[in-house]
Amino acid sequence: MYQSSLISKTTKEAPKDATAISHKLLTQAGFIFQTAAGIYSYLPLGWRVLKKIDQIIREEFEKRGVQDLLMPIIHPVKLWEETGRAEDWKDLIARFKSKRGQELIIAPTHEETVSDIARSFINSYKDLPIIVNQNQLKFRDETRVQGGILRTREFMMQDAYSFDADTDGLQKSYDIMREAYIAIFKRIGADVIIVAADSGAMGGSGSEEFILLTEVGEDKIVICKGCEYKANMEKADGIYTPFETDAEMKPMEKVYGEGIIGVEELAKFLDLPPELATKTILFQTEKGVVAAMIRGDFDINEAKLKNALGVIELNLASAQTIKDLTGAEVGYAGPVNLPESVRVIADFSTEGRTNFECGGNETDYHLINVNFDRDFPTPEFADIRSVQAGETCPSCKKGKLKIENGIEVGHIFQLGTKYSESMGIQYSAEDGSKTLVQMGCYGIGMTRLIASITEQIADDKGLVWPLGIAPFQVHLLGLNLDKDEEISMKAHDLYETLRKEGIEVLFDNRNISAGKKFADSDLIGIPLRLTLSKRSLENGGLEWKVRTEDEAKSVSEADIIAEIKSFLNA
Ligand SMILES: [Zn+2]
Repeated sequence: MYQSSLISKTTKEAPKDATAISHKLLTQAGFIFQTAAGIYSYLPLGWRVLKKIDQIIREEFEKRGVQDLLMPIIHPVKLWEETGRAEDWKDLIARFKSKRGQELIIAPTHEETVSDIARSFINSYKDLPIIVNQNQLKFRDETRVQGGILRTREFMMQDAYSFDADTDGLQKSYDIMREAYIAIFKRIGADVIIVAADSGAMGGSGSEEFILLTEVGEDKIVICKGCEYKANMEKADGIYTPFETDAEMKPMEKVYGEGIIGVEELAKFLDLPPELATKTILFQTEKGVVAAMIRGDFDINEAKLKNALGVIELNLASAQTIKDLTGAEVGYAGPVNLPESVRVIADFSTEGRTNFECGGNETDYHLINVNFDRDFPTPEFADIRSVQAGETCPSCKKGKLKIENGIEVGHIFQLGTKYSESMGIQYSAEDGSKTLVQMGCYGIGMTRLIASITEQIADDKGLVWPLGIAPFQVHLLGLNLDKDEEISMKAHDLYETLRKEGIEVLFDNRNISAGKKFADSDLIGIPLRLTLSKRSLENGGLEWKVRTEDEAKSVSEADIIAEIKSFLNA
């Protein structure tokens, strides 16, 4: 392709609101264009990258017997009512009414649609197993969008679904997809790690995430320095030092401490270790208000809390709700004398302590020497705690845990019978009995992957594409084409030869300065830059510069095709 014919132009101006490197560079280099907040157009360079990812995914699936299909982006709400997700996902789903009055939604994911297809065709155990895939746009009406295509409302996603007769079959399909994902990310050039994850809103039993580690990532990943243990913060466990306390219970006391709500400040004021303080936080859920208690030096993990409570919605209770239920301003809630309507759940870290501190349910007041059972009913205990760096690994029981930032680019789930149950996907077993199908689902955020790779390997000059997904393999620069006929002729000849050889080449044929051409080439980030100029000919041919290397070299015109082929096949 001639660079002069590209619809996009490079620009020195980064978008005003851009903070992420990928947002800046993909916009400046002309890969993406913002159509609305969180909604992007993929310009020819960006679309070529996306199509390469698409191609790699399809090839790896094809090899493993995964069938490609395409489902609609508009769904009837009716389907989503069958699983209850029309309600559960209502904040994310964009809904509208057709002229004929039909309630429709824009697909945020496709479990319901694929289940509707599956239940129509799966009748017998002989119809299983099946894995189907599509690479398709999705829309989730997120309130918070940021970072260019890192977190968008509309995005391109690969989503596959497996159907099996039993859990052994599901495990096999899951393993096939896991292996396919490893192969896909390797070919794409994405350096991912696989971590244990929480199933969250998708439901189901086991799941793992494919994570790209990078500073800007919003996911916290817990990694053991001593073994293979890796888990998302939502799921991770850690071994912490339990806090030893006196055996003898002291009388409970009410202490006045005006405006003191932070644990550190409070512990100092009361002259007790932070481990003896207790955070009690009130949450509003669809099942009512919940008070969650945790040891003062720890933080509540909302994903774990949701799972422990079996709820979908979890938001901090409003100041008014807190006042109504505790009688106090925010910051003084505690478990003693709470109304019975409030369900109390406590993290395991609070267990076993005696004479601990709690909020007094009265503004400016704290209770000390509080004890379970004596002062309030012993609550249900659960793991609702976020792991902290430096804790001991739950797997090897030796290594220390560290916490890194990452971006989730793939997620695989063993859904089990969650959807086959609500949507009625059954098959007749060999003995004629009706059995629910075991389902799995598997997704790669394709557009987010582009941004994540950019975040991981861009440098201060611009984008750096792995060969597998680069928009072009070779960036050919001809210098002074309007002034030097020999260079112009040779450059055009080479461009044609490369195309005939099947090499993907972007030819910078524009009549602009050499400096601007080199800067643009670095910004666009094509793996191999070849420069043809008067000086390169004097040096023996073409200047050969690999984007990831600092030094350039000279390659003769006679050797150039062979050299490029060996570079591409390396
Ligand atoms: Zn370990």
